[in-house]
Amino acid sequence: MEYDAVVVGAGVAGSIAAYILAKEGFKVAIIEKEELPRYKLCGGAISNKTLNFLKKIGIKIDEDIVENRIKEVEVHTPNFSRYLHVDIGILTYRDKFDYFLTKHAINNNCSVIKARFIDLKQNEDVQIKTTKGTLRARYLIGCDGVNSTVLIKSRLGKIKGENLVLAIESEYRDAEFDVLKLYFGYVNFGYAWIFPKRHGTTVGIGTFSNDSKRTLKSSFSKFIKDVGLKPIKFMAHNLPYAGSVKKPSKGKVAVAGDAASCVDALLGEGTFFAALSGYLAAESVIEALEKDSNLKNYNKKFKKIIAPELNTSIKLSNLFYSNMNFSYFILEKGGFEDILKKIANSSKPFTSVYKKVILHALKRYPEFLLRKLFS
Ligand SMILES: Cc1cc2nc3c(=O)[nH]c(=O)nc-3n(C[C@H](O)[C@H](O)[C@H](O)COP(=O)(O)OP(=O)(O)OC[C@H]3O[C@@H](n4cnc5c(N)ncnc54)[C@H](O)[C@@H]3O)c2cc1C
Repeated sequence: MEYDAVVVGAGVAGSIAAYILAKEGFKVAIIEKEELPRYKLCGGAISNKTLNFLKKIGIKIDEDIVENRIKEVEVHTPNFSRYLHVDIGILTYRDKFDYFLTKHAINNNCSVIKARFIDLKQNEDVQIKTTKGTLRARYLIGCDGVNSTVLIKSRLGKIKGENLVLAIESEYRDAEFDVLKLYFGYVNFGYAWIFPKRHGTTVGIGTFSNDSKRTLKSSFSKFIKDVGLKPIKFMAHNLPYAGSVKKPSKGKVAVAGDAASCVDALLGEGTFFAALSGYLAAESVIEALEKDSNLKNYNKKFKKIIAPELNTSIKLSNLFYSNMNFSYFILEKGGFEDILKKIANSSKPFTSVYKKVILHALKRYPEFLLRKLFS
């Protein structure tokens, strides 16, 4: 047996999974196709709940990787703007952030193999075919992102096109903005953002709507122009819509993070559930290693802890984006401030706010809400 566990992908999910296993003394390797630190298209907003979670598992964030602290958010709609005083997290660049996490695994004797995962075979153990040869491990965790090969090769599922969010981003090195800004109204079922950082500004737009995906490039161009920026090189990438993968493990193979479709459906935040699912997958592997059993426990934990949050994020997303007049009303009256704080800070980000949103809506928009709930 070469490894107790192999993890594919050195993103947030993979680095955390490998760190947890390596810290407990297991023989673990990460297979990563890119040279580290690798570029990752992302806004780099890391919420307080993620930072708290990392702290709980022994990872304290280095000031070096903090590009900005989010203390205020400016929300724009077609008719008004609102300034929110919310302490919700940090901004970073994902190459630095992810490599910082990977190093925690490496410092606990995890090896990193620069290779592409190609295929797997499950028998007593897992045979893992890569571009650098075949490895054997007792367990495999696929954290290889939205286009996960592990997900497909293990027959755990496939994330369909309609379950993907499309996002576009440009990295401005010279633009100067003083505060994080969110813009609603440029796309249906989505929003645009300006994330100011110490070494530049990340500007982007994303949508859940299939119709808006077709015109996202022109919506982005209009947005860029309206905020006074010149068009520069942009990149597009998909995010997996919350909860497309129902059972994230089969036999001795599990998936976590984007590979398990762990992005919330309201704001498109993926790093919290990537960290949490990576942790739960690793914890389940540790339990299974002791009994030489399969990873059914991970399915149970995922169903109990992650699925309710992702499912509630879908409900809130439908409520928020399907009647923007209602949402603008909540934004204008200040209801969004408390909700955003809770989503950013609570370890149960969506189930903890759902009741509050419904009560708020029931008072202000009873007809709309009843129609929505019973349609
Ligand atoms: C434009 C955009 C903006 C976003 N903004 C935010 C934000 O501000 N905040 C937030 O929380 N989330 C944001 N997200 C979502 C977030 O980026 C993802 O949810 C998160 O990166 C998921 O982490 P992960 O570890 O699962 O996967 P990834 O970060 O995608 O890591 C997967 C790793 O696997 C490697 N890999 C892939 N295939 C193979 C293979 N076959 N063999 C070996 N290695 C492989 C890749 O190189 C990569 O390093 C954004 C996403 C996009 C597209």
